[in-house]
Amino acid sequence: MTAVQSDASALLGVYARVGPHFVAGEGSELIAEDGTRYLDFVAGIAVNALGYNHPVIRDAVLRALDTGVVHVSNLYRTEPGERLAAELVAHAFGGQAFFCNSGAEANEGAFKFARKWSGKTGIVAFTGSFHGRLFASLAATDRPDYRKPFEPLLAGVQIVPLGDRAATARAVTDATAAVIIEPLQGEGGVRPVEPEFLAFLRALCDERGAALIFDEVQCGLGRTGTLFAYAQAGVTPDMLTLAKPLAGGLPMGAVLLSDPIAAALGPGDHATTFGGGPLVATVALEVLRTIADPEFLSDVRSKGAWLGARLRQLAAAQPRVKAVRGKGLMWGIELGEPAAAVVTAARERRLLVLTAGPNVIRIVPPLTISQDDLNRGVAVLAEVLA
Ligand code: PLP
Repeated sequence: MTAVQSDASALLGVYARVGPHFVAGEGSELIAEDGTRYLDFVAGIAVNALGYNHPVIRDAVLRALDTGVVHVSNLYRTEPGERLAAELVAHAFGGQAFFCNSGAEANEGAFKFARKWSGKTGIVAFTGSFHGRLFASLAATDRPDYRKPFEPLLAGVQIVPLGDRAATARAVTDATAAVIIEPLQGEGGVRPVEPEFLAFLRALCDERGAALIFDEVQCGLGRTGTLFAYAQAGVTPDMLTLAKPLAGGLPMGAVLLSDPIAAALGPGDHATTFGGGPLVATVALEVLRTIADPEFLSDVRSKGAWLGARLRQLAAAQPRVKAVRGKGLMWGIELGEPAAAVVTAARERRLLVLTAGPNVIRIVPPLTISQDDLNRGVAVLAEVLA
């Protein structure tokens, strides 16, 4: 084989990748191959909660590699996954954890667990939702353009207007296995769900014998200023799905299941080759311990309060901005026009931001971002929006 050049044309064209090759990172900055530094309000799409080159992740990876064992399989016991499961469920609602490799996989698993536990098949999701790109998670995702080319998807999934109690009460029947919702919607435009609506879902699921699944793949693990977003609503789900930041940028997803649901599952009911392996679990445990530290979370809350206030000021001064929504370090700026041009203009000024649907600019910086970097990024945004 002759020398092969780096060339995007050998990669399947399902991504519209832009910008330079990124080759390094430090703190809240990504560094391009020519040395240009970009302030990163994307964080690998809400994955790099501890930013780049964080010593906790670096040390955990090196320590895991020192064992010589990256993978063992779920045929045998390994210590890091068992320990991670115990700490995760202790922070949540008890029960047990299942580990997989992505957010979509976590939701697919949760749907299967709900079916096995309930003996029923129906799934109810909401407008604005995003739960993944596999056949069941995509069926529960309110993006007709993503779904259409791949239909038929999983049957028996209904998407109901978010917040509409009457429609939800009609949709959740005695044939419903699960109701799935993001307590703070991400891809759908950064939309917080009213705590009262989550409480309504809790009561409805209890009444109809359906499992309530909170998808905190994007909003969980400290992003909103508490370890889990649902804690702020005071409503506990039957299952919680996690992924993105869990293993510090290594691929990992998790489903946390309440005791009754866990009790309905046994050997052979579900599996994945890589799930919860020692490398990812070692890193995830350190990420979890770092984020769950009350001081860390309090810092996220205070930076988030500052950012929210600053973005609202910006919105008040800028007629292009229709709304500002969010919590913690997850914010959306809704424009009266497509947001893509702002994303490009920001990138040209060395600030990375992304969209959440066509008209919303999404900001999900590393949770470790410094106040100076936040100031700097918001100043660029103000400039670009003006
Ligand atoms: N659920 C939510 C709320 C998400 O934001 C995402 C991804 O953006 C997913 C699920 C799917 O996760 P993954 O891309 O890891 O499959």
